[in-house]
Amino acid sequence: MKHMPCLEINLTKIEENARRTVEKCAGMDIEVLGVTKGFAALPRIVKAMQLGGITKLADSRLEHVIALRKQHFSQSITLLRIPQLSSIDDVLTYTDCSINSEYEVIKALSEKAVTKGIHHDIILMIDVGDLREGVLPEEAADMAVKVAGLPGVIIRGIGTNMGCYGGILPTIRNLNLLLETKREIEEKTGIVIDIVSGGGTSSLKLVESGDMPAGVNQLRVGEGILLGTDTTHDREIPWLHQDAFLLRTEVIEVKTKPSVPIGETGKDAFGNTPVFVDKGLCDRAILALGKQDVNLEGLIPADPNISILGGSSDHLIIDVTNAEDRVKVGDLVTFRLNYQGLLTSSNSKYIKKVYVK
Ligand SMILES: *Cc1c(COP(=O)(O)O)cnc(C)c1O
Repeated sequence: MKHMPCLEINLTKIEENARRTVEKCAGMDIEVLGVTKGFAALPRIVKAMQLGGITKLADSRLEHVIALRKQHFSQSITLLRIPQLSSIDDVLTYTDCSINSEYEVIKALSEKAVTKGIHHDIILMIDVGDLREGVLPEEAADMAVKVAGLPGVIIRGIGTNMGCYGGILPTIRNLNLLLETKREIEEKTGIVIDIVSGGGTSSLKLVESGDMPAGVNQLRVGEGILLGTDTTHDREIPWLHQDAFLLRTEVIEVKTKPSVPIGETGKDAFGNTPVFVDKGLCDRAILALGKQDVNLEGLIPADPNISILGGSSDHLIIDVTNAEDRVKVGDLVTFRLNYQGLLTSSNSKYIKKVYVK
């Protein structure tokens, strides 16, 4: 379908980002799990990550994991969302490891693992402040003691998540809290905790500066490898590519019009009251792309002189008054993506995926 917007995926850049991340972390004895949820675990992208040295995968969606298994990806896969009680059987069948924080869920994993005659690894999540998943540090050792008594499940490690809900930055202080919690768990349970999983892309900054506390030995990285950005720190990661994914779509109208709509104002197509700044006349282009295709807030015009004015289900309106090249009907306009843009365009059936090397 020639007319569809296309997501151009540069496999070489993804491979290079993966390799640089793996090497930088290996220098501090940290293994990297390649997180595949940001691109719907599309197999060619997973393979590019693996070519770059990623040996273990992680995803938050069981559907993605099952699809990977059907395509004969046999590597270790960690489930990055607490298992649902209704998914226990599939979690045990398709994943090697899952993150957990609820005794009830771990007990269900244990019982089912015993009936299946298998073992399942768990990473006990500790909430060091971001307030998404995890046991509070002061409750972690008691929880670990209870879990250690369950057959069929092995506490392989502990982990934490940051920069997701609360926007909390990984720091020497909160990662040391994780390491203290590990020591407490080891003392109380007598088990050795192999893995200390210290977050995702936002933790790379401590690796770069050499400040990652010794003992943190795993990171789960998606955004950095895919987009070369670190949203939590609001930065581009200087040693990674930012343009492995580009979204291109076609211009269907270009006109010079006022910057403020004319007439009485009601609600827009989504029930919001729009607000406009009067910048006088501007050159506006309409693109064949809308909210039905991708989360428009996830798009970043590749030409910094182009700005996004707004959009509806099927139209995206941009200001091309100062565009580097004159924009005309039939042209393709290119966007970089943030995580939301990547997530939604990867999953969109209206967006064609084109792989380049
Ligand atoms: C999504 C996710 C990650 C990866 O985060 P990035 O910022 O993309 O590196 C890591 N851990 C958990 C639990 C996640 O849900």
